[in-house]
Amino acid sequence: MIAIVDGELCIGCGQCEELCPDVFEIEGEKATVISDEIPEDALDACYEAVESCPVDAIILEEDE
Ligand code: SF4
Repeated sequence: MIAIVDGELCIGCGQCEELCPDVFEIEGEKATVISDEIPEDALDACYEAVESCPVDAIILEEDE
């Protein structure tokens, strides 16, 4: 599973980094994804980040 942040939507609130720092990092005023494949033990935190994002900017996709 991979995570993608829509930079057009992200408002840089920091919520995703706080909940799942293994995958998300705030760079400047936007969140970026710092992990290619989401680590197994970070998946739950990542789902939480998706649900907590106030602007629904995080997309999770199965990698191929
Ligand atoms: Fe951006 Fe959403 Fe992360 Fe906030 S939670 S920094 S809006 S991606």
